[in-house]
Amino acid sequence: MTKFARSGRLQQIPPYLFAEINKKIDKAKKSGVDVISLAVGDPDLPTPKHIIAELEKAANDPKNHQYPDYEGLYSFREAVAAWYKRRHNVSLDPVSEVLALIGSKEGSLHLSLAFINPGDCAFVPNPCYTPYRTATLLANGRVCDLPLLEANSFLPDLSGLSRAACRNARILYLNYPNNPTGAVASREFYKEVVDFAKDKGIIVCSDNPYSEIAFDGYRPLSFLEVPGAKEVGVEFNSLSKPYNMTGWRIGMAVGNPEIISAMATVKNNVDSGVFNAVQYAAITALLDTPDSDIEKLNSIYQKRRDLVYDTLTAVGVKAAKPKAAFYMWCRVPEGYSSAGFATLMLEKAGVVVTPGAAYGSYGEGYIRISLTVPDAGLAEAMDRIRKAMGK
Ligand SMILES: *Cc1c(COP(=O)(O)O)cnc(C)c1O
Repeated sequence: MTKFARSGRLQQIPPYLFAEINKKIDKAKKSGVDVISLAVGDPDLPTPKHIIAELEKAANDPKNHQYPDYEGLYSFREAVAAWYKRRHNVSLDPVSEVLALIGSKEGSLHLSLAFINPGDCAFVPNPCYTPYRTATLLANGRVCDLPLLEANSFLPDLSGLSRAACRNARILYLNYPNNPTGAVASREFYKEVVDFAKDKGIIVCSDNPYSEIAFDGYRPLSFLEVPGAKEVGVEFNSLSKPYNMTGWRIGMAVGNPEIISAMATVKNNVDSGVFNAVQYAAITALLDTPDSDIEKLNSIYQKRRDLVYDTLTAVGVKAAKPKAAFYMWCRVPEGYSSAGFATLMLEKAGVVVTPGAAYGSYGEGYIRISLTVPDAGLAEAMDRIRKAMGK
């Protein structure tokens, strides 16, 4: 018996995925193993200098020491709109169609609290980035799994959803380029999503933080590029991945003004916005970063991807070469569970990988390897995997 019983909604939340993994790592480290973690997706390279310089300047201005505007500086929202126009040819009204977020992670909770009544359901991909699931549970909603199967290129099968299954559904989460599978979505798929959402009256939330992380010349789409998308949904994006700014905590929700306004109402009652100096730095990131910076970053990830692919192939682990995002989603060898294979990697090679089941039941049979590890560490990890697997 605990003295302070947790609310029912909190009791439904499993322990945060990386908290569990960190415990295992700590244990291995304590026993003297020099552990290399390929588990967490967090860029290892520094934020570009022009962005840091802008933060420094803005942090020195006392105007920025006061409460920010809740919905974001107008100039930040304008920069987001300009970026979407230039990058995706999507027009957004900075006032009604853009909301600044303290990182895009918080967006799913605001969306859930704004639209999910107890018992309502959200369609959540399985496997998935876990906040879609937990945000639904925290709003006392039900999670309706959308299996992402390799046979369907890790896209959900919307045509298989009956009218009954959609009756209490309010939100459909999508995330392409996808974490953890590395899958990407086509324009045709997004067109199908718009038709589905219109027909069923469901809000689409396209979480798109990897839109700039792509390889071999591939350019990921924005969901909002598809006609009618803004009528049914919103997109989240983030400064975290393209500008190596995960620690800065800034992202955005853009799209349907009714949805944006409802999310802003929740948000205004929870926090008081993003530090203005971070927003000024983000404006610089969005407007003044040369394309060549992103190309350089992607070429680093692409080299790492190829190294991991070659190693895995050599040791008989099946992996696809992702076109985008910075993860390798790999089938574990015959006879292993995803957790069992991850444990083998830790014990035999001192390498931490994430068991696929941590992202949902349909992730069973896979592991995820993150490419956000410095080149030398990744090379060492690959050597150890080759040795551990006897190659
Ligand atoms: C990294 C990531 C984000 C970005 O989160 P921030 O809160 O903006 O740092 C969002 N969604 C997915 C799927 C991610 O992998």
